[in-house]
Amino acid sequence: TAKEQGRNRFNYFAPFMQEATHTRMTLVSELREALQRDQLRVLYQPIIDLSNGAIVKAEALVRWQHPSRGLLAPAEFIGLAESSGMIKGIGDWVFQQAAREVLKLQAISSPSFQISVNKSAWQFRDDGSNYQLWLDFLRQLKLSPRSIIIEVTENLLLESDRMLALQHAHMQIAIDDFGAGNCPVSVLKQFGVDYLKIAPGFVAAKGDGLQISEAIIAMAHKLGIQVVAEGIETQQQLAAMTAAGCDFGQGYLLSKPISGEELEKQLQKQYAPVGK
Ligand code: C2E
Ligand code: MG
Ligand code: MG
Ligand code: MG
Repeated sequence: TAKEQGRNRFNYFAPFMQEATHTRMTLVSELREALQRDQLRVLYQPIIDLSNGAIVKAEALVRWQHPSRGLLAPAEFIGLAESSGMIKGIGDWVFQQAAREVLKLQAISSPSFQISVNKSAWQFRDDGSNYQLWLDFLRQLKLSPRSIIIEVTENLLLESDRMLALQHAHMQIAIDDFGAGNCPVSVLKQFGVDYLKIAPGFVAAKGDGLQISEAIIAMAHKLGIQVVAEGIETQQQLAAMTAAGCDFGQGYLLSKPISGEELEKQLQKQYAPVGK
């Protein structure tokens, strides 16, 4: 019978599945405690104004300082957090860390300094589009909602209710990895998108990638949207994006993601009066 065949097939794969399932279950239960045990970290990758080289924004990127596996990148646990219902808790925590950090960074630099926070499709599924807790948190810190940029992926643009709720929260909106998915361009304007982040694949010094970047920048500027080039790794890419009129740059060439303290030091240097 089909059932027997199914069972046989299961038995055939069982050793592999058991191992994978075991690792997964261990990680899920460890992740559940990671927040309480203070094992999550937020790093901040500087975003530079390409017209003058100043650090004017940063992207919050979560890490898990695992007791035995070392520092884990999001790719190793965000999917797990999403499928096990923990992404909301982690997302709320990352948001609060980012808000506290932007308060410090604005005091050092300027009230226009912003931190961007990633919000995945699953986070929308778990906490819907209720921004009240986040907005209350910002109000307690006396921060304008514009201090925070929410980074969402292109697919979200197809979900009008979620985009409208996001727009009405008055934080700024960035479309992450733009050009990688299918985005109806008309809705960029409709929902008041503030930034497009060009996917690293198009951040090129020549060829098709450069042409696509140039086209994205021209379109965005026509719509009153600013552009961030992500994943800048070479001087040539930096020069090409600057020449193409891209507004902001982010990438290993400029800076890897760094701790909040490190970013504060960098900004203190940037804002130190000349000659002192
Ligand atoms: P993303 O939002 O597109 O973030 C950019 C990723 O590119 C980061 O990886 C960053 O470290 C990396 N990157 C920056 N510059 C360069 C470069 O020049 N070259 C290369 N090769 N990579 C560069 P990271 O930190 O591993 O994050 C991966 C993804 O995980 C993020 O992609 C984002 O989608 C997700 N993520 C990170 N933090 C959070 C979070 O707090 N919440 C949610 N929901 N997702 C997050
Ligand atoms: Mg991002
Ligand atoms: Mg990105
Ligand atoms: Mg807006």
